[in-house]
Amino acid sequence: MVSVGRSVMRQIQGPARSAICTRMAQQTLAMPSCAAHMSTAAAPKKREKKASLSPLAERSSVLRGEGAMEFLGKAKFMEGEGHDVCHLEIGDPDFDTPEHITKAAAAALAGGATHYEPSGGSLKLRESVAEWFCKTRPGLDAKAEDVICTPGGKNIIFQTIAALVQKGDEVIYPNPGFPAYETTIEWFGGKPVPLKLDSKTGFRFDHDELKRIASSRTKLIIICSPGNPSGGILSGEDLDCVAEVAKSCGAWVLSDEIYSQLVFEGQHDSIALRPGMQQRTVILDGCSKNWAMTGWRVGFGLFPRRMVEPARNVCINTFSCLPPFVSAGAQAAVEGPTGPTEAMKDEFRARRDLLFDRLNAIPGISVAVKPAGAMYLMADVSGTGLDAGEFASRVLFEHGVAVLDGRFFGKHGQGLIRISFAQSRERLNESCDRIATFCEGVKEGKTPVPLMDASIFEKKIEELSSLTSLTSISSLTDQLDADFLH
Ligand code: PMP
Repeated sequence: MVSVGRSVMRQIQGPARSAICTRMAQQTLAMPSCAAHMSTAAAPKKREKKASLSPLAERSSVLRGEGAMEFLGKAKFMEGEGHDVCHLEIGDPDFDTPEHITKAAAAALAGGATHYEPSGGSLKLRESVAEWFCKTRPGLDAKAEDVICTPGGKNIIFQTIAALVQKGDEVIYPNPGFPAYETTIEWFGGKPVPLKLDSKTGFRFDHDELKRIASSRTKLIIICSPGNPSGGILSGEDLDCVAEVAKSCGAWVLSDEIYSQLVFEGQHDSIALRPGMQQRTVILDGCSKNWAMTGWRVGFGLFPRRMVEPARNVCINTFSCLPPFVSAGAQAAVEGPTGPTEAMKDEFRARRDLLFDRLNAIPGISVAVKPAGAMYLMADVSGTGLDAGEFASRVLFEHGVAVLDGRFFGKHGQGLIRISFAQSRERLNESCDRIATFCEGVKEGKTPVPLMDASIFEKKIEELSSLTSLTSISSLTDQLDADFLH
């Protein structure tokens, strides 16, 4: 509608003025509906009925954030207050993305790669990723048309569960495990059925237990190897067992292999290499961990043919496509030299050894499993007499070391803490010194001397929560300028 004030009209002359006058006159002629509305308004007043604003969908409270985020928020807050915090809670490699990758992305950006590209990845990228899948898993028959590229590996978890799981379906998932599995299963109405990974067996699972919990209701079995949070690797027999169970109950498999290139001894193995398994298995991998590219957000899914279209439709209706200059970086990653990843892996191995030995030398702490991959280990702290949650809180408040309560990764993480070795050896040594001092103090019954008053944290968290009406803690960590914890 054209509407121009008198003072403005005075300044407009000539054809522009007459055009505006004509338009305004036309609008006035077209007013009857407006007049009708006004006469209704003048009619005897009825009591205006005001409905309260409709509630959110029930499902909006089903999907949870990561409990560990709150903890990370506290560590960040403490740091902001000037305390030196050792970040052993974060699963983000402290390496730079290899230069050939950043250069490829920069060149693409400078060359104008700033428009939409095909959903699920350009053909060029999908061809390169398919080739990389075949190279890293000899025997696999990966084709470009079965590859979907997404912003981060997490999307592949979402797409798989969205395509398969509905009310009444059961999904077996590793516990302790990556938190996104359980909450996404519930979000789609499925029933999460935890498969215990036991520190006593190298964070593998009991084969009989898997056979016992699987049934005709099992729609999907999720596995993760190398594993987060344990760093454990499933053996060839474990993968054979999952394959046999999946076949016997008609289930699909989501094989989370996001740490595939960080295997410290031997070769990475995939369940999809077992006879008949590729057609029922989604392989999840990506750039985040293999090339220290967590912030680039690139995940790869290799899908069974029947699932490709539903997965691509999620892409089309949500994020559309990867930024094309990011795709160029991902392409350089999968096509490029393996040297940088090898060097990173060697350093992770050295850090693992250091951390494993140093922690096991601290009275009260025991690390049963030397991680065979990824960048984490789980330590039992029960020998200190503290529960894992209390241990994590106190070692942060009193000594500025951030580690995570294993409970954040599911009920079978209870009693353990997860420690990430995505930090330098120097920082790991510093962290172990502080943890040793802390444990000694606990053993001697010394009165805790927090670096900061814990109640200040709680108050701050409360303040921020009321500002942001949090259902998840992620907006809180945004406010604290937190890194992502993964
Ligand atoms: N799976 C596992 C086991 C992970 O640990 C992570 C990230 N920490 C992901 C999937 C998701 O990876 P991305 O950051 O690429 O979304």
